Amino acid sequence: MKIKMILPALLEAESPAWRPVKYSLFPPLGLATLAAHCAPDDEVTIVDQHVEPLSLDDEPDLVVIQVYITNAYRAYAIADEYRARGIYVVLGGLHVTSIPAEASVHADTIFLGPGDCSFPKFLADFRRLKPKPQYQADARSLVGIPPIRRDLIKRKLYLVPNSIVVTRGCPFHCSFCYKDAFFKGGKSFYTQQVDEALREIDRLPGKHLYFLDDHLLGHRKFAAELFAGMQGMNRLFQGAATVDSILRGNLIEQAANAGLRSLFVGFESINSQNHLATGKTQNVNRDYEKVVKRLDDLGIMINGSFVFGLDHDKPDVFDKTVDWAVEQGITTATFHIATPYPGTDYYAQLRKTNRIVTSNWDKYDTRHVVFKPKHMDKSVLENGYHRAYKNFYSWRNIGRASLQHRSVKHRVKHFAYTTGWRKFEPLWDVVIRAKQLKLMTPMLEGVLSKVTTPKSAVSDSSSASCSESIVHFKERNLPTPVSSFKPPEY
Ligand code: SF4
Repeated sequence: MKIKMILPALLEAESPAWRPVKYSLFPPLGLATLAAHCAPDDEVTIVDQHVEPLSLDDEPDLVVIQVYITNAYRAYAIADEYRARGIYVVLGGLHVTSIPAEASVHADTIFLGPGDCSFPKFLADFRRLKPKPQYQADARSLVGIPPIRRDLIKRKLYLVPNSIVVTRGCPFHCSFCYKDAFFKGGKSFYTQQVDEALREIDRLPGKHLYFLDDHLLGHRKFAAELFAGMQGMNRLFQGAATVDSILRGNLIEQAANAGLRSLFVGFESINSQNHLATGKTQNVNRDYEKVVKRLDDLGIMINGSFVFGLDHDKPDVFDKTVDWAVEQGITTATFHIATPYPGTDYYAQLRKTNRIVTSNWDKYDTRHVVFKPKHMDKSVLENGYHRAYKNFYSWRNIGRASLQHRSVKHRVKHFAYTTGWRKFEPLWDVVIRAKQLKLMTPMLEGVLSKVTTPKSAVSDSSSASCSESIVHFKERNLPTPVSSFKPPEY
């Protein structure tokens, strides 16, 4: 059977703000994970429209399309085109799960929730010519799932082909997060078995890894065993975790010892009232400076995530947030305009109070304002968002933020990492066009090499006991199998 799996490009692919390197980071791991359930004699292809052309003039037996909110219209158009020629199309992903009625118009079958267990059931039904119109993820387990079909990933098209996911979901329940909507009806946080995760890591060539899990430290026992197993593997890795997990116990030291060199941290707001209002009580009145210092002492670079436009934000939020991030020496920042994704409690609250102003999903990209903000005009919010990016990534502020670190090596790494990511777009474009991203791997590994902070400069932060989690406001990125939300903006 010929199976074609498609990740349609997000809307931004046609925007002047399009940064090819941002979408050449990770392969579509979710589709490769599902592909592992296909039979050995199935002819499976994966097309990621962000990095390669998508041709629709073929005749596969089955088309599988992954749908996010800002590729939804494009995904539907692709689906319609295939279906018009009698080709069977299935749709799955975050947006399909959020609004099944909308998606089902464009599909023969839709998937709600994670597909790890429902996709094999569908395949069996499809082979018997009895596929159902809808599959809900009743079972939730990663035990014994077959290894990801990495042979289907065109590694040379990606800067980080070694991306990996070892958990699903997250233990928290923030009101704006897709997670609860996506995992409705079952467990919303579970892990692989440690041995299987380690075997998957072992299969990846080279040194660098990127864990795309929403919260790599979310299951502390699992994470501790994983990091223990990674000792001696000579890996460098990046990932995401909550503020809480950074402050509690010594798991973050174990991660650093296993090779953690950069972390996505969802600070989201420097105003605790916003955390209270969005159900992020674990972030309320927590000591963010302590988080930064702890990571800094371990030589871990920080990608801070910040959201603008929550109900307690005033027009000064943009400058205050950028100043704070620069003064703290945050390496890279991802800013978002608050976005009420359909299916979330946040969306329901805003809708109930008539504050949603558009249902054009193309605008739900965290760069546009799609609701009525409380304390500022739409234009103030959008302009402030753009100004925050411009200011944070000004040469002056990159220099200032780099100088916040105590170790000289960390300062140099910070400067190299941030300028490399944000200031050399033409160079990235050349490398991407030449399909030579692998040439950049040694440089990336160099920037992620270990930093040792002088002992005298390291305070005892291991007794910290604050509790927080992160907010993943944005759709995380393209390739994760199930629930992630934030496109990396490193
Ligand atoms: S926003 Fe982040 S911390 Fe909150 S539930 Fe979602 S994944 Fe978890």
